[in-house]
Amino acid sequence: MEFGIVFWFFFYLVFFCLSTYLGYQKGNLIAGILLGYVLGPIGALLIYLSKDRKHITCPSCHAEIHKRSYICPKCRVKVGVSTKTAHEG
Ligand SMILES: [Zn+2]
Repeated sequence: MEFGIVFWFFFYLVFFCLSTYLGYQKGNLIAGILLGYVLGPIGALLIYLSKDRKHITCPSCHAEIHKRSYICPKCRVKVGVSTKTAHEG
């Protein structure tokens, strides 16, 4: 059953790449690689559901914008991260 082995290998590889990519997109590359490597499809799902550390949601138009953005590129509302009271999760 060599075909089966090859199939599962690529199946696993696809989810590993997906998990790595999602981890990179969320600014959590190491977690993406580890989850994809250890858990395969489940790891990819977990990193998909995990909190995005690289992007924030605009309080005005709910667009996904970069964490370090000062002004929302969509609606030009100030989303500056000047407040130090907000704790990072
Ligand atoms: Zn906005």
